[in-house]
Amino acid sequence: MTLSEMRQLLDREGIRLTRSLGQNFLHDGNQLTRIVVAAQLEPGDQVLEIGPGLGALTDYLVRRPLKVLAIEVDRRLFEVLRQRLGGCPNLTLVLADALEYLRTEPRDWRPWKLVSNLPYSVASPILVELALNPRGPRLMTVTLQWEVAQRLLARPGSPDYGVLTLLIQLDYEAQDWFKIPAACFFPVPEVDSACITLVRRSTPLLEECYRQAFVRLVKQGFSQRRKMLRKLLKAIRPEDEVDAALAALGLLPTVRGEELSLEQWVGLTRLLGVAHV
Ligand code: SAM
Repeated sequence: MTLSEMRQLLDREGIRLTRSLGQNFLHDGNQLTRIVVAAQLEPGDQVLEIGPGLGALTDYLVRRPLKVLAIEVDRRLFEVLRQRLGGCPNLTLVLADALEYLRTEPRDWRPWKLVSNLPYSVASPILVELALNPRGPRLMTVTLQWEVAQRLLARPGSPDYGVLTLLIQLDYEAQDWFKIPAACFFPVPEVDSACITLVRRSTPLLEECYRQAFVRLVKQGFSQRRKMLRKLLKAIRPEDEVDAALAALGLLPTVRGEELSLEQWVGLTRLLGVAHV
């Protein structure tokens, strides 16, 4: 869908875009093709698209032999999509808040791929929701704000390294990414975007029973970035256990959360256990 087609469609339907819903539509055909290629789609793949908008990316998906489930929260866009693509037998359109939908939908997403230009406002919670789901998608090719992509890719010690990094990297490895300039969207957003492909680890780094503890420890450990980890963790775990766990991992008592690698966070979670966290 070209930029002029998008403008015409919006004018014809009298739709004024809603900024808070992250309604910036991708109209650059080259970038849309790159996204589809990055998702390594194969015939028969099941694809979840969150926020199809006017259907710019959906157009590329439904013309392939895929099964597509697209979830849009804006009724006006949902109606446009239904008129434009409702006849495609391989497309299921759902009118819903995707985050609510994911929280209540008991579906096993493991065979699925998420391919989406995510709404900026809820991109991180949606990724975390799917990543922490033990039956989350096997691959996620998502377009999001450049700055959020940097957080997904971050390494220990970098200012971008934090809760989001760890909650996603626990189960997903970044395979590839590329920048998408702001000018490729309508309306033009204030920041550039990036498309990143995350692949689910074939062997989980942490057993299911420790997941909640991991999330709680990481959130607590980054609650005050410049503060020593032991001081933060003693709010939720006995001080001597925290000190013993850090020592067992060969970490200094002065270490801060941002200095621990993912593997050290995993080790810390196992040492500090499940029951009391
Ligand atoms: N996929 C389209 C494209 O690439 O041009 C549109 C992407 S636009 C960045 C994000 C879309 O997500 C908008 O259509 C917006 O209405 C929708 N959206 C925003 N919040 C949502 C939510 N919580 N659940 C589902 N869709 C949402």
